[in-house]
Amino acid sequence: MESVSAAARRGSMDRRDGSVDFSIASETVDLLKEIGAFIEEEVFPIEPRIGTEAFTSLLPDLTSLRGLVRQKGWWLPQVPREHGGMGLSFMQQAMVSEVLARSPLGHFVFNAQAPDAGNMEVLLHFGSKAQKTRWLEPLLAGEIRSCFSMTEPDRAGSNPVWLETRAVREGDEYVLNGRKWFTSSADGAAFAIVMAVTDPEAPPHRRASQIIVPTDTEGFERVRNISCMGDSGSDWMSHSEINYEACRVPVSNRIGEEGGGFSIAQARLGPGRIHHCMRWVGIAERAFEIMCQRAVDRELAPGDRLESRQTIQNWIAESRAEIDAARLTVLHAGWQIDREGTRAARTAISAVKFTVARMMLQVVDRAIQTLGALGISDDCVLSHFYRHERAARIYDGADEVHKSVVARQVLKRFRSKPSVGRELRQPGEQLSKR
Ligand SMILES: Cc1cc2nc3c(=O)[nH]c(=O)nc-3n(C[C@H](O)[C@H](O)[C@H](O)COP(=O)(O)OP(=O)(O)OC[C@H]3O[C@@H](n4cnc5c(N)ncnc54)[C@H](O)[C@@H]3O)c2cc1C
Repeated sequence: MESVSAAARRGSMDRRDGSVDFSIASETVDLLKEIGAFIEEEVFPIEPRIGTEAFTSLLPDLTSLRGLVRQKGWWLPQVPREHGGMGLSFMQQAMVSEVLARSPLGHFVFNAQAPDAGNMEVLLHFGSKAQKTRWLEPLLAGEIRSCFSMTEPDRAGSNPVWLETRAVREGDEYVLNGRKWFTSSADGAAFAIVMAVTDPEAPPHRRASQIIVPTDTEGFERVRNISCMGDSGSDWMSHSEINYEACRVPVSNRIGEEGGGFSIAQARLGPGRIHHCMRWVGIAERAFEIMCQRAVDRELAPGDRLESRQTIQNWIAESRAEIDAARLTVLHAGWQIDREGTRAARTAISAVKFTVARMMLQVVDRAIQTLGALGISDDCVLSHFYRHERAARIYDGADEVHKSVVARQVLKRFRSKPSVGRELRQPGEQLSKR
């Protein structure tokens, strides 16, 4: 029988006797501490440059930090050991993701950044041998970057089976035509994984395929980096609009079978959402620390500190409780994925997606309010979080879409038990009989 400590080493919280173990293996705790210290000492000092310099000018320093990360054996925390990663369990990855997220640059320095991490996962699971050699290996090595091009300006991204971009087969090639936007990190990427309709007559979930399009393909035009909340960004920190015009790529660039694009996207998004959620928990933790530090440091008058005000105390207490609750629900969803798979865990995944995003934004907002003008300024990382993380409630499924997934699943149980409705009507009937 597996020991509790073996289960904990896997990052799991369940014991075989059905009880729950909230402890984390000491090796994992040590790893998180070491990585946390590295982020604080090496990555935090680069942060103030994010708002004032182009991302490319940070790259020399980030590249040398990547070298240090490799030396320490922390490269690719989300990837199995046989592919050059740390070989962590899903739960451990989630915990590492929280620590990396304390800086907007953390994931990048460990080569665990979106959208590359998701693309690596897709190529690892669904890529052909040739695709792995040509695209996955340099991605894992950190030599190139990639992007994922699905959302279109003229179609609701919330309906992933309704796309306009077409890939028409001509002999051994696909010819792609269409317009995409919010393709994150396309600026400087070596290739895009494009979701395009290959068979418009097929059932909706079988219409599209995922196709690799190198960004130097003729007809691939990066129209612009979209300015978001006053910032167009650059390189990895940007979101592009892209025009695909008669882009020709070999059929061998298709990932998986024709019509398999939607199911691959689902496989990519489930665990990816857990990673996002743990990233948001990490952001909330960082905002929380900044808020608490300011509360004890800031004097409203000599000797009269902000921490003595009940409003601030309420924010601190509520934030502490909400962050801890969020972390547990995300880890629980991850635990369910580990045990039962992404499909079985989809209600839990949807529930954490909208609750954790909302929690994170609320904590960031409270922290900004606590700091006053300093919180709005780019002297503090909070303004970066505020600007860039509002999107958390929109990408990877808008809040409302996830809420309807949760509600549908919950209601299904009631629909299959009509007696519940009858019971609810009974008290009145009984009363009238008495
Ligand atoms: C910062 C950022 C990065 C992104 N990165 C990428 C990327 O790398 N690649 C990529 O392909 N896409 C990316 N996206 C796009 C993202 O996936 C879409 O924005 C998302 O799917 C929502 O689609 P939409 O914007 O077209 O909104 P719509 O589908 O038009 O929805 C608009 C609003 O309608 C409401 N709504 C929608 N459906 C329902 C429903 N069923 N019930 C109730 N209300 C509903 C919601 O409030 C929603 O916010 C990114 C977006 C952002 C903001």
